[in-house]
Amino acid sequence: MRLVTFEHQGTRRLGVRNGDAIVDLSQADASLPTNMRDFLAAGENALNSARAAADKGEHAISASDVKICAPIHNPDKVICIGLNYADHAAESGMPIPPEPVVFSKYASCIINPGDNIVAPSVSNEVDYEVELVVIIGKAGRNIPKSDALNHVAGYTVGHDVSARDYQLQKPGGQWMLGKTFDTFAPLGPDLVTPDEVGDPGNLDIRCSLNGEIVQSSNTSQLIFNIETLISYLSHVFTLTPGDIIFTGTPSGVGMGRTPQVWLKEGDVVVCEIDGLGRLENPV
Ligand code: ZN
Repeated sequence: MRLVTFEHQGTRRLGVRNGDAIVDLSQADASLPTNMRDFLAAGENALNSARAAADKGEHAISASDVKICAPIHNPDKVICIGLNYADHAAESGMPIPPEPVVFSKYASCIINPGDNIVAPSVSNEVDYEVELVVIIGKAGRNIPKSDALNHVAGYTVGHDVSARDYQLQKPGGQWMLGKTFDTFAPLGPDLVTPDEVGDPGNLDIRCSLNGEIVQSSNTSQLIFNIETLISYLSHVFTLTPGDIIFTGTPSGVGMGRTPQVWLKEGDVVVCEIDGLGRLENPV
């Protein structure tokens, strides 16, 4: 199932993508929550209602008549993993980490597919990073790896926009500041449930800048896989429905190129993962 958050005639609500149509879940079942975080927290019952509505196919709106938004805007946590592809660690001049490198973004960074990434005036080194994003569906603490995938609601495409001068050159290396400028987390379009994704550890992932492919890899290249990340993180804090995990980016970022490439006004970045979708944002 492909869940979407969409805007239509002035309200934002949830739907299920059904080919070229969006089944409007609030019309199909008025008892369902109208935002993704509450919907995921409602668990299996809500998912089953959504599936039933999608199967019926009533209350469908043409996808071209709605604005598709980021699947979730208000997660409790936006967790990011750094240096999780060996070739990206190498191009960053960093050793392969023996444990996951973790930082975070704020929910205020999240923007919709199609929205503008705003290159901040105080940074001269804004970079792109395509990433597989995990969305948590079931709360948990101290989750064993063997149970980790049962806590996943689904997957989507994320863009971990990064100001390298803040991240690497400020005193102390300000990873958090470099990653948390407004608009630095484009997300979407669909939340694709695990049954439809198949193996999340074998998805082609790529990024193009102004039509030219600049990153191309496969999630099989992740150093720490999804089970490991969920287990590792949940030994520190409770994961709750709607939490999102950016799982790291492969090589090909602008920082690692000769000469280096930085995002500028007028650029268009497309992040894409096979089976999940295409996330396009202008700068
Ligand atoms: Zn990243």
